[in-house]
Amino acid sequence: MSVWLGMPPFPEAAREALADTQLRANLRAATATIRAKRAAVVAERSDWEQLREAGRAIKDRALRDLDTYLLQLEERVTAAGGTVHWARDAAEANRIVIGLVRAAGADGVVKVKSMATQEIELNEALAAAGITAVETDLAELIVQLGHDRPSHILVPAIHRNRAQIRDLFRREMPGAGEDLTDDPVALASAARAHLRREFLTARVAVSGANFAVAETGSLVVVESEGNGRMCLTLPEVLISVVGIEKVIPTEADLEVMLQLLPRSATGERMNPYTSIWRGTTPGDGPREFHLVLLDNGRTTALADEIGRDALRCIRCSACLNVCPVYERTGGHAYGSVYPGPIGAILTPQLRGPDPVADSLPYASTLCGACFDACPVKIDIPRALVHLRTKVAHPATEQSTMRAAAWTLTTPRRFALARRLVPLATRFARLPGPWRKWTHTRDLPAPEGESFREWWRRREGSP
Ligand code: SF4
Repeated sequence: MSVWLGMPPFPEAAREALADTQLRANLRAATATIRAKRAAVVAERSDWEQLREAGRAIKDRALRDLDTYLLQLEERVTAAGGTVHWARDAAEANRIVIGLVRAAGADGVVKVKSMATQEIELNEALAAAGITAVETDLAELIVQLGHDRPSHILVPAIHRNRAQIRDLFRREMPGAGEDLTDDPVALASAARAHLRREFLTARVAVSGANFAVAETGSLVVVESEGNGRMCLTLPEVLISVVGIEKVIPTEADLEVMLQLLPRSATGERMNPYTSIWRGTTPGDGPREFHLVLLDNGRTTALADEIGRDALRCIRCSACLNVCPVYERTGGHAYGSVYPGPIGAILTPQLRGPDPVADSLPYASTLCGACFDACPVKIDIPRALVHLRTKVAHPATEQSTMRAAAWTLTTPRRFALARRLVPLATRFARLPGPWRKWTHTRDLPAPEGESFREWWRRREGSP
């Protein structure tokens, strides 16, 4: 499930978020830092546009022949000693994972940060089955300890500052002393000590993957802390839940993707840890490997000619960091695991119609900054407009548009309407159902003279 139950539609949630000045300050500082780092490393590459084109082509090729590549992936993973499971939806995926954890005789798992498992609400399903899940990515751990929701794809705790994190650790993290400071090194050390105990006792790990290579059956996880690699290598059983759109055709494609992703995500030339694994290897790493391939609405999105572009997403979060709407409201207002511009086009497609999902394509100024930043050239504004046409519009908007169409059909009606506009602008606020519109906007004052009037004055006749 990719929309959080109980969340109001975006306009309401955004109003509340906008009133939180601490949140806005935290977000402004964090997104400005990431934006500057990204701009600097992207500027180093004179072939950045060609890399983006190559990234787009790789993902398009994978999506065009997705069935072929997925079957190839299954065959290669199986040949390498892994087991592939196919999950139609969140419930099926959760059922598979719970069954595997139980079969391993475990009552807890450690997790590598994974959007797919957040999307299916795996932690909640595991808890309901009596299985504890411990997040090992530092930001994800902060969210978990705070009984909070992630608000950014890459930096899930971006809405919290260091002092807030220190308070949280003191309160919730066993072993974090009262004297813990908000120094980043001290915070990281406290988390490291806490997580080390979990890594050394866990028998099952759950991960996602950034890419799945059809040609070799390899899975790829990129990360900054090394905690992911501990998860991927120490436990006896590794379960990876991966969206079917993560498949790429060949290992050579990684050359492009691994240049695009870290630069766009964290503003680094290369991410510190890249883990690539294939099935199982006797005496080295997990003894069992399970790959759960997740659909959960992706094939429906694939069937939509414009909407399918969202499946090219490599979850770098560059579009969030440049979005003026995201910077002011933060991720929680989107009510979805996928916030920001990509969430606004992905969530309605994965989730299907509902009040929260329907409101998301409107959570944008259509300024196009997301399109410019996207490393795989997803035309997010085009998809937003496309998705806006699919939702039911309020009756007021429909009747206004019908009236506008009727008025603009003939020059005489248009000329008459033009004479009436100055009358309307005498009101600072429009009456009736239009009040909401003018509540947040000024009515634009019309130009003093129309083109027709100017022409008549100049030429003497219409
Ligand atoms: S839509 Fe593009 S910019 Fe946004 S997260 Fe996905 S790949 Fe990155």
